[in-house]
Amino acid sequence: MSGLGKPLHMLPTVTKAFGVKHGYSNILGELVLADVLDYGDCEDFQIVCPNCREPLFKRIRSETHYFAHYQESKSLHSECELRVRNFTASDIDAKTAFARDQRLRYFLEQTTVLLRECPFRNPEDVIVRETAFRRLRRTPEFRWWAQTISDWLRRQDGNLLALTREHAASVYERWERVSFAPKTTFSREQQERAAADMLMTFATPLGRQALDKALNTAWVDLSLVTGDMAQRGASVGFSGPISDYMRAVLNGPDASAAASHHWLLTSPMPKGLHPQQNVTWSAIFLNQLTESLVEALLMLDYMGSLRKRARTAH
Ligand SMILES: [Zn+2]
Repeated sequence: MSGLGKPLHMLPTVTKAFGVKHGYSNILGELVLADVLDYGDCEDFQIVCPNCREPLFKRIRSETHYFAHYQESKSLHSECELRVRNFTASDIDAKTAFARDQRLRYFLEQTTVLLRECPFRNPEDVIVRETAFRRLRRTPEFRWWAQTISDWLRRQDGNLLALTREHAASVYERWERVSFAPKTTFSREQQERAAADMLMTFATPLGRQALDKALNTAWVDLSLVTGDMAQRGASVGFSGPISDYMRAVLNGPDASAAASHHWLLTSPMPKGLHPQQNVTWSAIFLNQLTESLVEALLMLDYMGSLRKRARTAH
């Protein structure tokens, strides 16, 4: 011990200049690299020391990004930094994989809760949604669409973020028109990324249950919107037939729902309603249902929900 006999604050503090590359995020539940965060992000993501769990802040020195403890004089922190820096690549992989797995499970469990908190323009619609789900999931038509969308999402593979962004653009446009803005902590871009991540999860066998729940919300929302449009005799030519189909399924399961489903899958759209020829009604419905699904996912407050988890976990 070279520092023996000297006061603590005079001990050599070589390690502090380098700080640590990894911090632990209480919000994300995983290790995060200093390079990917901005200064202000440390509070939002609640970055703490993976060793002692004290809050860290971000510094950049000689173009090197790192996290540092607030009180640098404590020799304790040098030990922390040594320990964290000595994490091997496989330590970090294991910790990250575990955290990701936990986060995934959490998201899947919370999908129902999140969707329940999904805002409505009309508060009474919550009751419609709750009762509709029980009825919907018994219908062969809804199960058919859930399977179809699950298969379809899997085929989109690397295209899901672009697809989400495309739908998001028209969703945001619609929200602006009616001055609607759900309370979410993330920026639009992060919401889009999170929604695309959710869709990727939905496409896995593990995510199928969550997809069914989200699709239920999407279905009810879409049927309310198209029903409303059809009632007002809106100029959108397809809202009437689509609304009739969705209502038939919601009132099923019965023969008229089956007939309506057959019609949707086999009847081409009239000229003028779709730029391409021989496009069946099911194509436009798939597109609308997907957009409604993206819309529901864009409304969810992912960060708020993670914060809630961080609060209950400590
Ligand atoms: Zn520490």
